[in-house]
Formats: sequence, structure tokens, C-alpha cells
Amino acid sequence: MKVRAALLREVPGKWEVNEVELDPPREGEVLVRIVANGLCHSDDHFATGDIPVGHLPLCGGHEASGVVEEVGPGVRTLKPGDHVVTAFVPGCGRCRWCAGGQQNLCDNGALMLEGHQLDGSYRMHLDGEPVAQAGLVSGFAEYSVMPEYSCVPIGADMPLELASLLGCAVPTGWGSAVNAAAVRPGDVIVVMGAGGIGIAAVQGAAHAGAARVVVVEPVTSKHDLCLDLGATDVFTSVDEATELVRSLTNGQGADAAIICVGVLTSADVGAAFVRSGRPGRWSSLPQPPATRPRSTWRRSS
Ligand SMILES: [Zn+2]
Ligand SMILES: [Zn+2]
Repeated sequence: MKVRAALLREVPGKWEVNEVELDPPREGEVLVRIVANGLCHSDDHFATGDIPVGHLPLCGGHEASGVVEEVGPGVRTLKPGDHVVTAFVPGCGRCRWCAGGQQNLCDNGALMLEGHQLDGSYRMHLDGEPVAQAGLVSGFAEYSVMPEYSCVPIGADMPLELASLLGCAVPTGWGSAVNAAAVRPGDVIVVMGAGGIGIAAVQGAAHAGAARVVVVEPVTSKHDLCLDLGATDVFTSVDEATELVRSLTNGQGADAAIICVGVLTSADVGAAFVRSGRPGRWSSLPQPPATRPRSTWRRSS
């Protein structure tokens, strides 16, 4: 079938809409009608060259929601009509990592930046040439074909335009606070940058019981939203926030600093390091849970 898709054809370059040929789903794959796709900063990193692209042209978008239209042979967990959110790290549910509760480390994730599908071939084509798919997903298209493992089914009553954010920004930010920074009740937390990821980190830190969630966000129009969603204090620069953080912690510095800025620089990391205390935790990328999930095996009596 022919579908419209936003492609990156050179780096640095721009996302431009083209008509591409989309193959039907093969073994273990599904055809999804894309309803919504969040614009992640990673898509901009691809366009600027900050994140290397393995193959061009590339169809972007890894934060999508949609409706399954068709399933390929062997698909067991999805059927046409299912509403789904995409996962840019496919989770097979069966490998050593998935079975241990760390789907973010699924063996299949090794292929997330390659551009082709799990069997090494391509489903999108432009003038007969293969088109890479971002995270095996490519939400920048009217329809896309992806692994069954890349889809997480959701309830049909969940608004799809909101659910798409669960594909990247929300779990990335929330997980940075709850898992990587391991926020504890009473903590003083600094969140640098309140974009899609940062604002989810704010909510994660508040949910985990932080006493103060101090946000540094230079765009003042975002400040009220930060306060609505869990921030206790908002500043436009790190330097402005420093005095408060030191006064709250007897000069020790924050318990954790979570860096969610658009383009990470050594200055940002240095600032976070200085503002967090001696045992402080800081994170700029989501990490696996700090502790292994507790076993759910129970002896049957
Ligand atoms: Zn993303
Ligand atoms: Zn797996």
C-alpha cells in the first residue's frame, strides 16, 4: 500500500513528507494505523546528526499510538482493532532479560537503531529503495508495519493522542526519577529542563514522595504547568536554584539531579554534579531499575 510518511533523507536535514510503499506484515509483525505520534527530541537529534543514523532515508517517530489493522502469521498477542502504544525497544517477553522483568534490555533491542525489521529486511520503500524505520516503529507515517513485540495493547477507552506519550516521554522521565534517581520520600530533587521528559520526571519525583521538586526551566511560559504537576519551586537558571537547594539541605546539595535538557553538554552535567550532594544521584538517561524486581514466584501449598 502507498502511505504518506515523514522522511529524513540527509544529515543534517529536515523531515519531509513523501509517499512510500509499505509492504504487508510478515511473520510476527502487525500493520498499525497510526493515530498520534509525539515529537521526541531524539527525532531532532537524528536530523541534526547528534544521534547517528544507520541508514537513510529514515522514517522517524517512535512515540506512537494507533489501531492494529492487520496481523501477520504467528502473531499471538494482538488482533485487528486492538489499540496499541509503540515501544522503541521491542520486548519479546521470553528472553533472559524480559523474563527477569527488564524488557528495556530485551535481546531484540540490539536492532532498534539499525532501521530494518527483526529479520533484517525492510518494509518501507521509496522509489524501490529501502527506508529505515526509527526504533522499528516509524510513527511518522499514516500506517506502519512493526514487530508484534513493539506494540503494547491499551484499553480502547484511552484517548490515543494522549496515550502516544506513553511510548517515550512519560516512561523516560518518570523512570529517570523513580528508577534511575531512586527518589525517596523527603528528598530534595532538581529537575533540569521541563520538556516532555522533564515534566514527567517532575511527576515521578512528586509521586515518589520528594519533599521539594526544584525545576530549572528557562522558558517561563512552562512554569505554571510545572507547579501544577508537582514542582514546588521553579527557576530560570541553575544558578538561581542553587541558593534555595543549599538552604534546604544545610549546604549539602540535592539528593538527586535529573538532567532533561534538549542537548546535553558537559556544562549541564557539571552543574548537576555540583548541585547534588556528596552521595547525590544524578541521571541523564533512563537506567534499569536500581534493584532487581522482587520475585513473584510463590510456593503453591
Ligand atoms: Zn523519544
Ligand atoms: Zn526479550
